Amino acid sequence: MAKDPVCGMTVDEKQAVATYVYKGATYYFCHPGCKAQFKKSPEQYLGKK
Ligand SMILES: [Zn+2]
Repeated sequence: MAKDPVCGMTVDEKQAVATYVYKGATYYFCHPGCKAQFKKSPEQYLGKK
């Protein structure tokens, strides 16, 4: 299972409706809207730890 970096939901890689490759890593999203958000400002979602 992967985690949607935008909304924090757990996403099954096989059933993810949207994926996005950023800096060599693949991210999975529960909704195309989450992917759109991530594409706009990926650092915002990856920077917080
Ligand atoms: Zn999401």
